[in-house]
Amino acid sequence: MRPDTNDVTETAVSADSTSGDAFGEISVSLRRPSWQEAAMCKGKTEIFFATPGERDGRRKRREALARAYCACCSVVEECREAGRDGREHGLWGGENDEERAGAGYGPRSPHRRAVAAAARQARVSGLEVA
Ligand code: SF4
Repeated sequence: MRPDTNDVTETAVSADSTSGDAFGEISVSLRRPSWQEAAMCKGKTEIFFATPGERDGRRKRREALARAYCACCSVVEECREAGRDGREHGLWGGENDEERAGAGYGPRSPHRRAVAAAARQARVSGLEVA
């Protein structure tokens, strides 16, 4: 199932800084899944995604904190599905990279051995989703 989307239109006016004249408007339409409006993690991206070179201990602490948010989030199912559908990195719907890979939704570019191993195991077990 594809999540519902909200259309968000951003409008910007570019202006000539010397004369103050407006050149015109640029409209950009962004499609954002509607469930994201209820996300408990808004503005807390750094808790849900690893920084380059993150060590295991820090990752475990960061993910434990992220899971605490997910545990009381009303859109956990939609979020987990989106993470799986998009083969995302990071923690989505209480599920980290290894867990998603182990369920057959490994990332397109596994960045850690544990994630690659979980994806391989899912493939061998016939769980991998094409
Ligand atoms: S389930 Fe977790 S990652 Fe997903 S929107 Fe909620 S708090 Fe954020």
